[in-house]
Amino acid sequence: MECGCTNCTCDDKEVITSLCPECRSTGNLIPEKAVKANLKKEFHSSIKNVDIFLCPDEECQTSYYSEDNTLKFILSDLKKPLWYKNNSDPVIACYCNNITEEQVINAVKKHDLKSWQEIVLHYHEKTLCICRKLNPSGECCTDFFYSIINKTLTSLGKETVTIPGGCTC
Ligand SMILES: [Zn+2]
Repeated sequence: MECGCTNCTCDDKEVITSLCPECRSTGNLIPEKAVKANLKKEFHSSIKNVDIFLCPDEECQTSYYSEDNTLKFILSDLKKPLWYKNNSDPVIACYCNNITEEQVINAVKKHDLKSWQEIVLHYHEKTLCICRKLNPSGECCTDFFYSIINKTLTSLGKETVTIPGGCTC
């Protein structure tokens, strides 16, 4: 079964937030595993024993930061572009399987595929689902992935699909 953390209850932790030092947007606490998987290696030693947050603002150039503002990373300090930031190139739809927005659109348009699993398997032999580690937000890509599928289906005049619930990661 494909991952779909929309209604996920497997991880009922409270959301801890902190304001971005640059734009003052409210960012969520990110699991250290996800920070390390996405931040370039040369910065790893600086993030010991410190809570790291992610700026959610699409215009802000800041990516990860610490609550006390001693650490602040910019977008180019990450290994891959942050999908929701302006001018990200490529826009990544699924970090676990390295699928871009463009690949999702092509799979829907040219091959009539309509689910995360079908689309990932169109490009790879198997599906990987380790969002808590590989997604920069530590969260599942399902909502964004399906928003691309549905946007494309709508542009083709086709019926949209329901975003799956449940979580298997
Ligand atoms: Zn910011």
